[in-house]
Amino acid sequence: MFNLSHPKLVKLAEAEGYAEVADFLEDHAVGSIVPAICVASDCDHTADLEPDQRAGFCEACGRASMKSGLVISGMI
Ligand SMILES: [Zn+2]
Repeated sequence: MFNLSHPKLVKLAEAEGYAEVADFLEDHAVGSIVPAICVASDCDHTADLEPDQRAGFCEACGRASMKSGLVISGMI
């Protein structure tokens, strides 16, 4: 089940210049490096990481809370 309305996913798509989460996912579904966002509640840091990243290091808050957009959406 895809989750295209996750608040962090919406924020990530917006940060990448997309009005629609679906367009964002379509463009990055087959990438080797994809946009990721920190899922900590007080941090919205974004970076380009591996598509299957679930616990990447966040350079902004120092936690292992970076998730790729594909992981957040449920595509991976
Ligand atoms: Zn963070």
